[in-house]
Amino acid sequence: MINNIKICKNENCNKTVKGRRDRLFCSGYCKSEHHYAEHKKSGKVYFKSQVDEILRKNRAILAKYNTRNGTEIASEIMLEKGFNPRFFTHFWTNLTGETFYFCYDQGFKENKSGFGDKYTLVTWQKEMERQVFK
Ligand SMILES: [Zn+2]
Repeated sequence: MINNIKICKNENCNKTVKGRRDRLFCSGYCKSEHHYAEHKKSGKVYFKSQVDEILRKNRAILAKYNTRNGTEIASEIMLEKGFNPRFFTHFWTNLTGETFYFCYDQGFKENKSGFGDKYTLVTWQKEMERQVFK
């Protein structure tokens, strides 16, 4: 019966599972590969690589839209591209108390005034170092 065809639970495998009804994997190899992958996803190393990936992506998106220092852009556009404002490497505050969040050398500030939400994009300047490095 076609309904009984089961596909191996290992994400990297598309083989059908034969044999006992409660079997989930086509082979012992697939079973251990699947459990290894699950273990990796739950670990600290995996979390670090996820964060690294988000920061790398954020930086690339910021750099793409930051055509000149001080560019304003609708936050919606950035978010659609996958920008995640919760992840940044450090922040810097200017004399009027506005905080800019950076992903390495690319920074942004949320502007809640005017139509919709916007980001002001800036690049890291040498003189900002005094505030953040001890
Ligand atoms: Zn398999």
